[in-house]
Amino acid sequence: MSGQTGFDFERELSDKLRTRFYIDGEWVRPAGGRRNALVSCVTEDVMMEMPEAGSADLDAAVNAARRAFDGGAWPRLAAVERGAYLKRIADELRKREPLLRRVCTAQIGAPIGFSTALTPTAIELFDYYADLVQHHAFEDERRTASGGKVRVVSEPVGVVGLITPWNAPLILLSYKVAAALAAGCTIVAKASPETPLDAQLLAECIDAAGVPPGVFNLIHGGRETGAELVGRPELDKISFTGSTAAGKAIAAACAERLARVDLELGGKSAAIVLDDADVSAALKTIVPFSMPFNGQICFSLTRVLVPNRKRDEFVDAYVEAVNALQVGDPMDPGTQIGPLAMRRQLERVLGYIDRGRAEGATLATGGGRVPDRERGFFVQPTVFTNVRNDMRIAQEEIFGPVVSVIGYDDEDDAVRIANDSAYGLSGAVFTADAERGYALARRVRTGNLSINGLTVDAGIPFGGYKQSGLGRQGGIEGLKGYLECKAVYLHD
Ligand code: NAD
Repeated sequence: MSGQTGFDFERELSDKLRTRFYIDGEWVRPAGGRRNALVSCVTEDVMMEMPEAGSADLDAAVNAARRAFDGGAWPRLAAVERGAYLKRIADELRKREPLLRRVCTAQIGAPIGFSTALTPTAIELFDYYADLVQHHAFEDERRTASGGKVRVVSEPVGVVGLITPWNAPLILLSYKVAAALAAGCTIVAKASPETPLDAQLLAECIDAAGVPPGVFNLIHGGRETGAELVGRPELDKISFTGSTAAGKAIAAACAERLARVDLELGGKSAAIVLDDADVSAALKTIVPFSMPFNGQICFSLTRVLVPNRKRDEFVDAYVEAVNALQVGDPMDPGTQIGPLAMRRQLERVLGYIDRGRAEGATLATGGGRVPDRERGFFVQPTVFTNVRNDMRIAQEEIFGPVVSVIGYDDEDDAVRIANDSAYGLSGAVFTADAERGYALARRVRTGNLSINGLTVDAGIPFGGYKQSGLGRQGGIEGLKGYLECKAVYLHD
């Protein structure tokens, strides 16, 4: 069946990738009978159906991971040996890179240029952790206060449940899988029901890399399957990326048995344009990163803070640049703005646009569906100005191409507005003076911030303050999230 223009799911993906789960080193037929439709965001047709896991599938996956952890070789391998497997996974991903890009675009309509830019970072994560374990100290000999000997060792946290969303499916799963494998954990992963196929391809790569059976297991399904997985007592840790609402429910379920948990959640990040900034240079970052993949990215710069006396000038230049974005079919390499990923996203985003109008913000551009697109979930890139930070469009994560421009009086006011948010994920400062930008960055309560650009890197920790999450992914901090610390005192 053909999906978004130019991708044929049946021809381009093997039967096992479309119909089976990867459990205990085998591609198995799901026991559960439910199926979940993948709907094209361009044509609104059903592209394919993916099986959903039932309880018996969860049992099989969880038990396989538990056996592989408790009795298998994987957690006890030297870390450098696990690193060699990670390198092979990266190599297998590289072989499939063109398909991975197209699969991402086919499932959720991310412009192909965006999928192309994102895929190498997923591969880098496996390379990065393969290299890190070559020199990371998993054991550290120390002296006690009285001169005794003690070894402080880092051990894998155990069996981990990994749950990911649809909006950057391969990279978000790779953050977790690469670090968890490097640490020696075994895994049960559940991808989003809208994007099962990147995870299936990753499972194929893990299998081809020779990772032992039971170390990586993959099931599919929606919220109920995720909640059932989180509740399984055999899991020692849950690592979740998704909405803040689901993250809170998962944290509460984990608290019940004190399972370890990390959460990568929503954002409402501010781009602060200082009065000395070169606006045309700043727009080179703000235009693509205020609505990357249509604003369906957690670190989108959805609040743009500009000095009040320069606000009109800024809005004119920003709106001109936004209006020049090419809206079109996501498989077309020239497309910058494709459709939203699904109907519920379309409804959510249009609802927020209505709310912004009702709250009294001024629509500077956009404001509805793309006029000549009757089918598909296309929404015009939309900019509101005269936004007050207490409006819901400035406080809540819209997850669409809707940006609020907010005026500020001075730097203190800019910091106050940036921090007046339940979230604290990302952000950026634009200035002619990088040290001034750095000083300001230190005052913003957020997990990541860039000066005069926006960067996310596999080797650098990513995560949120406040309701944007708990814990970090990427970098050494990402590895530590999958390790427990044990002190062994050596008495003579
Ligand atoms: P979502 O929370 O609805 O779902 C995410 C995943 O969790 C899916 O696999 C879903 O099936 C599962 N799930 C949902 N409720 C669950 C529950 N109660 N128990 C267990 N599993 C459950 O989010 P979404 O709509 O798929 O993704 C968009 C959200 O993800 C946005 O809020 C976005 O900001 C966030 N996100 C955060 C980051 C980050 O790194 N901070 C990255 C990407 C996306």
